[in-house]
Amino acid sequence: MTAKIINGTEIAKNIRHSLKEKISLLKTPPVLAVILAGSDPASEIYVKNKEKACHEVGITARTHKFSANVSEKELLDLLNDLNRAPDINGILVQLPLPAHINSEKILQAVSPAKDVDGFHPLNIGMLQQKSPDTFIPCTPKGIICLLHSLSLNLTGLNAIVIGRSQIVGLPVSNLLLQENCTVTVTHSKTKKLSALCRSADILIAALGKPEFITKEYIKPGAIIIDVGINRTPNGLKGDVNFKDALETAAYVTPVPGGVGPMTIAMLLENTYEAFLKQNRP
Ligand code: NAD
Repeated sequence: MTAKIINGTEIAKNIRHSLKEKISLLKTPPVLAVILAGSDPASEIYVKNKEKACHEVGITARTHKFSANVSEKELLDLLNDLNRAPDINGILVQLPLPAHINSEKILQAVSPAKDVDGFHPLNIGMLQQKSPDTFIPCTPKGIICLLHSLSLNLTGLNAIVIGRSQIVGLPVSNLLLQENCTVTVTHSKTKKLSALCRSADILIAALGKPEFITKEYIKPGAIIIDVGINRTPNGLKGDVNFKDALETAAYVTPVPGGVGPMTIAMLLENTYEAFLKQNRP
């Protein structure tokens, strides 16, 4: 079997195109405030990519850059201002924050109405309750979008998620349940992982270990979503051995060009949605 490649770049491009059209009809552009603290090279690249993507669809991105020794109070004061500023629709705090900053405290200080990353406890709770007022975290939302692009009936499928992080594993498990999948969440302490994974109709790999998922983990005909982004001496690698997935699965996302572009497209979508919610007549 040669798996079909799920082209995240193309799907994300279509979403951005449609957003650009909708945004061009607004009287004022949506505004996203981005907070970047420290000089982590990967974070700087992510923020640059987000700014560029915003610009391309007509969202104004305003980045607030701090040195690595910024105090918690400075960040909280800025968040307080941004939360109250009527012209700011979305707020994104680029993670990781410097080690001396309490990330939880910072994320909880973002107004839930502007929390376009969906990391505030109120939005996490509303996601559990399937409330339309929540913001769904961008990577999990993008993954579900990729699955929908296949136009398959997901009801009753056996979905296995590897990873239980707040950012990917837990929210995507929740969303898969909402799609009526039977969901198993696995993690670093899970026993007999490969045997479990071989029963998965949908396998979501979000563990952050380059090419960890090999043939023994893949059920023939499965849908494989590779969330991993691992910088290795041999370049950027996913969590899945792409060649093995191509030979065994029915569908697979590439790295790069799978989940990554969808994460950015969903950030743009969430910012547009925040604008609409805040400007409801
Ligand atoms: P994390 O480190 O917070 O969580 C990793 C999870 O994997 C943990 O729950 C851990 O228990 C589990 N795990 C680790 N080793 C394991 C093993 N050997 N077997 C089973 N489970 C294991 O990571 P994260 O933030 O959830 O990110 C996961 C990966 O996804 C990383 O590579 C990250 O760079 C990538 N990522 C990509 C995007 C994107 O847009 N494509 C977005 C977020 C994260």
